[in-house]
Amino acid sequence: MNYIVFDLEWNQPADIKSTEKRKLQFEIIEIGAVKLDENKNIISSFNELVCPKVYKTLNWHTQKMLKIKMSDLKEGSPFTDVCRRFLNWCGEDVMFCSWGPQDLTELQRNMDYFGMKPLSDGPIPFYDIQHIFAKAKREEDTTRNLEAAVDMMEIDKDIAFHRAYSDAYYTAKIFKELPSQVTKNSVTYDIYHLPKTSKDEIRHTQGRESYYLSTGYDQREDITGNRKILSIGCPRCNGRALRPKIRWYSTNSKVYYGAAICSVHGPIKAKLRIKKNEFGKYYAEKFLSYCPISDVEELKQKKRSIKANRKQTPKDAIPGKMPEAQNSKK
Ligand SMILES: [Zn+2]
Repeated sequence: MNYIVFDLEWNQPADIKSTEKRKLQFEIIEIGAVKLDENKNIISSFNELVCPKVYKTLNWHTQKMLKIKMSDLKEGSPFTDVCRRFLNWCGEDVMFCSWGPQDLTELQRNMDYFGMKPLSDGPIPFYDIQHIFAKAKREEDTTRNLEAAVDMMEIDKDIAFHRAYSDAYYTAKIFKELPSQVTKNSVTYDIYHLPKTSKDEIRHTQGRESYYLSTGYDQREDITGNRKILSIGCPRCNGRALRPKIRWYSTNSKVYYGAAICSVHGPIKAKLRIKKNEFGKYYAEKFLSYCPISDVEELKQKKRSIKANRKQTPKDAIPGKMPEAQNSKK
């Protein structure tokens, strides 16, 4: 298997703040990538400009950042040609890697827009090197830009930043230096396409963490009333549902917290996110992780203080049916 570390540059409308709904917010104008062997050595590279079809002027920010002119882009090929060459160059059996979570989504969105065959009909596993870097440095609440990370890793800055190829190149250099023990347990999923059916749902356990991604639903209530999604199971006991130690509670209507204790494997804290994708489907992501009992106590404290606050200001009550759905369980 090879790793494809890639980076995209995109252009956007001049009036970014406009709220007008656009079919394609970010038009890809450059694809840069390096291919790595299993030992993360660079074995090949890809670097092409795209001649834009949608936005004929460069957004000032893009122009300033990339130091690129529209006349340069006009030398490029249409997106469909560049993308086809890129995917051929990638080959089969690859693992995509990028700095941050957005590139695979934008690639697929552009492919969609220009009428290309989908890259995949479900979620795509990939390595978000920015996320893995933060994990390795134990600063998961910090988002570093690529150059800051390169500096921290003391990697030679032998080419200029902020072009697709150079950013892919530096991302690959960082990737090679990151501890493989951390990388191995840090697969994330691009969810431009949700799992097609409940059979295709993602259940992925790595290290002390477990990730679940549901299929898409038409109604939010299909999730907040779904016992299977709401259950907290021990991944090491084949996901057997546990009696909740802390029933789901929320600080807003999007993220819920809960906890359970497996008598064999110990405390598990849980986080559930409910979102709506751009195709109007609701889906849930559930994150479980084995944790010290002090984390469970902390969650309990938070839940108590939220409850107390809510009594004082009832108009801030949490929307959604989740708490009722849970309480009605016998
Ligand atoms: Zn267990």
